[in-house]
Amino acid sequence: MTTPTDSSTYTFKAEVKQLLYILAHSLYKERDIFLRELISNASDALTRMHFEMLTNRAVREPDAELAIHIESPAVTGAPEATGDAPKKLVIKDSGIGMTRAELAQNLGTIAQSGAREFLEQVGAGKLDPSDMIGQFGVGFYAVFMVADEVRVVSRSYLLDAEPAAWISNGGEQFRIEPAEKTDRGTEIHITLKKDADEFAQAWKLKQVIKKHSDFVRFPIYVGTERANQQASLWRKNPSEVKAEDYKHFYQQLTLDFQEPLATIHFSADVPVNIRALLFIPAQREKHILAARKEPGLLLYSHNVLIQEYCTDLLPKWLGLVDGVVDSEDLPLNVSRETVQNNRLMQQLAKVLRGRVLRELKRIAENDAEKYAKFWDEFGRTFREAIATDPEAKEDVLPLFRYGSSTSDGKLISLDGYIQRMQPDQQDIYFVLGDDAKSVAHSPHLDPFKARALEVLYWVDPLDALIAPLLTEDQGKKFRNIDDAELELPEEKQEDKAEEETTTPEFDFNVLLGRFTQVLGERVLDVRPSRVLKDSPVRLVSPKDDKDRERERLNRYFDKEYKVPKKIMELNRNHPLIANLARTLHDKPGAELIDLTIEQLYDSALVQEGLHPNPVEMLPRIQKLMELAVEQE
Ligand code: ADP
Repeated sequence: MTTPTDSSTYTFKAEVKQLLYILAHSLYKERDIFLRELISNASDALTRMHFEMLTNRAVREPDAELAIHIESPAVTGAPEATGDAPKKLVIKDSGIGMTRAELAQNLGTIAQSGAREFLEQVGAGKLDPSDMIGQFGVGFYAVFMVADEVRVVSRSYLLDAEPAAWISNGGEQFRIEPAEKTDRGTEIHITLKKDADEFAQAWKLKQVIKKHSDFVRFPIYVGTERANQQASLWRKNPSEVKAEDYKHFYQQLTLDFQEPLATIHFSADVPVNIRALLFIPAQREKHILAARKEPGLLLYSHNVLIQEYCTDLLPKWLGLVDGVVDSEDLPLNVSRETVQNNRLMQQLAKVLRGRVLRELKRIAENDAEKYAKFWDEFGRTFREAIATDPEAKEDVLPLFRYGSSTSDGKLISLDGYIQRMQPDQQDIYFVLGDDAKSVAHSPHLDPFKARALEVLYWVDPLDALIAPLLTEDQGKKFRNIDDAELELPEEKQEDKAEEETTTPEFDFNVLLGRFTQVLGERVLDVRPSRVLKDSPVRLVSPKDDKDRERERLNRYFDKEYKVPKKIMELNRNHPLIANLARTLHDKPGAELIDLTIEQLYDSALVQEGLHPNPVEMLPRIQKLMELAVEQE
């Protein structure tokens, strides 16, 4: 047992030790981010204090200003600012504070999955540590990039808590000891490394704060001077806000150091009072384990924060949107439960959803390239929306984009497809497969090419998942073109190719029999095709097979996979089939015949994106080549 008067020594968790070693011994160019991380921790502690005091005034110093103070002898003009002694810096907040036990836990003994992932990424050269450390929940340790020694003195808001100090020089251990502190919150006392002493200077501190922490929600004072603008950008008139300010605000809000794809800033008084500043990021979060921030919007009422990660204002599939919403109509003292059930919240949600969708539509219309990038990043999210939220369909389908057999690599919308449909075309056609390149050669496309009908490429794994849920759009049915019974509009006479190499009927029937015999249980049937042109064979699905994409999904998601049974269709007019029938007629025992049948089946599976392991075909392909060369 330790008593509050004891001094105890602890060893850092292994991954923290490693992290500290890297931070203290490497030379990073952007060391100034340590300040951003400490200010961000201070701001979090202040936010928690703010929320605590909404319901509880029995705290230490309830009337203290919620603020961050940064001090150093150079800032105050104290005599020790000059001379050779190590330079000092203090970052102080009036936030929630930490008890002795919390100091030990939070700053060293708790296992840090974020630290581990961070180390992996840095080790693999995937990231520059100074850029992203905060995203991994280990931002505090960045202080050891500039510090020889750190002393954290803290006093919790809890009335009975004693102050305590945490001391470390970034080595293997840290110490906890009693401390003197009468006011609430946390002070970080830093003894700067010799080569980092500029961080004791007021100009440097102000410059770094301007760059990284300008929009922190609480005032930051360097000495007596206010260093951040802490402006409620969303309350300003959009015409008064500079593009730079939006960018910085976004970056400080989300820790995403790219520019957002889009910024939406608006206000309205009807049907509800609302001011909102929303951002659509350019990229999906890559580290699910260590997301930059929790999803959700900042919710304000009368410029007072009432919820930090509000997820009730946008549907889950718009969770990618970040930003701030402020409404004068919301009562200040709302609890979390009332926020959720509030009719006003529903009105706000409706307005926000409409605005975001409208903005996406605008981008799609005005900047197809930008929209294509967006779709590439977030298309999955919207496919998931179809799978998980049936009501989303109407809003979400207009956002969908697909490649198609006639779009030349461009992405097109369902609207665009429907507008280009031929006069006698009833349905929206799609083909499923692994990627655009392979479906472009799909034998199913033969009759569509002949009729100049457009076919959508559904090549995202989730397309197969949602295919059964997408029955129609704007009254047009979706049709998978691997359907055996698909009825197509009449082929135009002039497009009909001359049928040159027709296999004699008797020989063709013998060949059908041989296919059936060789493929056995693996196919449901072997039959002549009515539609194939350039392809010798294809695999089709029996009509109304509702479950037909299940195995495809199993394969995508690495589950136990059984090759689904399909119907094999043969193209009687294709030279390969004609020659095969002739060989079967002349030399029924030729080795080539069954090998070719097997290969045609395997190739068709690859084409469909249904082959369990295409590499297995290689020995057979080699055998076929040997036989071919022998015959030459
Ligand atoms: P993160 O802030 O992402 O959780 P850090 O390593 O920066 O990771 O901080 C670890 C923890 O230490 C925080 O989660 C918080 O509980 C505590 N902490 C850090 N700084 C402060 C502070 N100024 N006031 C109160 N608690 C703090």
